[in-house]
Amino acid sequence: MCDTSIIARIRDEKIAMELIHFGARMQVLEYETSLSRRWLLKLYKEVKGCSPPKGMLPFSADWYMSWEQNIHSSIFYNIYRYLQKSEYGRPVEIMLKAYWLYLGQSQTEPNEKPVLELTRAWTLLRFIDCGMINHTVCRSCGGNFITTPEYMRQTFTCSLCFPPSRASKKTTLPVSGMLSASA
Ligand SMILES: [Zn+2]
Repeated sequence: MCDTSIIARIRDEKIAMELIHFGARMQVLEYETSLSRRWLLKLYKEVKGCSPPKGMLPFSADWYMSWEQNIHSSIFYNIYRYLQKSEYGRPVEIMLKAYWLYLGQSQTEPNEKPVLELTRAWTLLRFIDCGMINHTVCRSCGGNFITTPEYMRQTFTCSLCFPPSRASKKTTLPVSGMLSASA
């Protein structure tokens, strides 16, 4: 760490703290900061009061196409795209701000488990970077939704316009303005 500037290190520490606060996995912390694994483990235990969970990162792009996951992921991604145009900073800093705004829109209770957890949101941006997921416009409402390539080959209708029958018991999110294609 001796060749890292003090400012860069403080910035990394702030990013690591926020990532841990939102429940990021160790792999995300190691990818997004230049801090040592040992230091990150210590910080994690201090912030969360326990060791980080072990295991692999989520790897299925299909997860994002289930009706509820797709709506939540699309809200997050639309916020992220909007902030990309107006905010300065590293992509991870813009992601953190987008995630914070997404939680504000999607959580009805303060400690409610979000549908889109932070590590899933982070993985979504990786999948978009490598072309495994893209975004397309719903032919019915004109909203902008994330889709895997096989959905892009057909005319896409979102699950807000044609929700599955099991969706009827779920609370509707106040999302109409957050998915517009022009956002
Ligand atoms: Zn639609």
